[in-house]
Amino acid sequence: AVLKQIESSESEINAYVTVDKEAALAKAKKADEDIKSGKLTGPLAGVPVAIKDNMCTKDMLTTCSSKILSNFVPTFSSEAVLKLEEAGAVVIGKTNMDEFAMGSTTETSFYGATKNPRNTEHVPGGSSGGSAAAVAANEAFAALGSDTGGSIRQPAGYCGVVGLKPTYGTVSRYGLIAYGSSLDQIGPLTKDVTDCALILDAIAGKDNKDSTSIGREKYNFADSLVDDVKGMKIGIPRDYFGEGLDPEVKEAVLKAAKVLEEKGAIVEEFDLSLVDYAIPTYYTIAAAEASSNLERFDGVKYGHRAAEYDGLHNMYKKTRSEGFGPEVKRRIMLGSFVLSSGYYDAYYLKALRVKALIKKAFDEAFAKYDVILGPVAPTTAPKLGSSLADPIKMYLSDIYTISVNLASLPGISLPCGKASNGLPIGLQLIGDCFREDNIIRAAYAYE
Ligand code: GLN
Repeated sequence: AVLKQIESSESEINAYVTVDKEAALAKAKKADEDIKSGKLTGPLAGVPVAIKDNMCTKDMLTTCSSKILSNFVPTFSSEAVLKLEEAGAVVIGKTNMDEFAMGSTTETSFYGATKNPRNTEHVPGGSSGGSAAAVAANEAFAALGSDTGGSIRQPAGYCGVVGLKPTYGTVSRYGLIAYGSSLDQIGPLTKDVTDCALILDAIAGKDNKDSTSIGREKYNFADSLVDDVKGMKIGIPRDYFGEGLDPEVKEAVLKAAKVLEEKGAIVEEFDLSLVDYAIPTYYTIAAAEASSNLERFDGVKYGHRAAEYDGLHNMYKKTRSEGFGPEVKRRIMLGSFVLSSGYYDAYYLKALRVKALIKKAFDEAFAKYDVILGPVAPTTAPKLGSSLADPIKMYLSDIYTISVNLASLPGISLPCGKASNGLPIGLQLIGDCFREDNIIRAAYAYE
């Protein structure tokens, strides 16, 4: 059914870079047999899922939606994909994204923009826009995305699906092609909160192949699917409702807070300062890490290589000039600049200090609250083409999501209504580190 849906809507939506129909059908057939014989059990047995194209999949093209990796077929699968497959899920393909996960609209892809299935004149958000669109268009039951500064939560919000960015270290990054290594986390995009908890249960866990992955005593996220928020303390940061927030988004988000209050939560406003510093801090750190991570794409070991060149340096130069798109080049230049001698202290080190202050502000908030509630993005999904010309404007739209990554926190995005233009509005619930249970519980109770 999912493959049929892909056939009918994919030419318009463009959610996928690769769909491997034959392999998917073979895997589904095998899953059916194993379910019948009792070898395969559990909630994900035989469920068709899609994977963002920055996670390595053995024998399946993995492009990061970039020309430079347009012919890259990995010899191994990322840990998160392996775990999903172990749980019986069937990978049907790889989803479109902003090139190397840099962007908020899925328009910087080498494979063309993805369209928002709720209104195809609008973007699906990004960078995991293909994953969000695939789930929204019934082209997959669930998908994996990655979130460095909002890339799971924001497209989930724009497409009216559920997306969760776990606490840093919860899901192994082994096989995830790195953007900003200290910020990147893999997480689920799903149709509802129940599916979200089930997928997270399958992919979370300590992995010795990722030195930043962290083990926990207990992993049952589905235990938090209880309709009970009595006594839960929810903080609303006043700073998240100021200038720049669309009035319709504001109204819908505050209405969601009321619903939780009526169900017994204690809702209170508070000041979360430093919000204004989150964007420059994030774009300094993310670009610095990206410029270093992307050094490996040099035409020697992976992917595209310029056809004609004069010596090694010229080969690097031509390969990288041809292989990367404008947004990626912008980040590499910015990152190299803030890391260069003479500027390192003034920009990069300073950003790390502000990051520590942002973390401290959240620590203080979580001493008082179980969950922080706010919008996912200042507006609903913008029109296609309206963000590309003005990157700074696009960066500013990440205002509510990026500090969650800077502080390593978990955050979930779920639908909380529609604007008058018919597009979905996203509600964001943020938890303290390792407290996915609180945000899943609040999200489930609201939903
Ligand atoms: N929009 C942000 C960026 O371009 C976030 C992207 C992400 O989370 N991968 O960096």
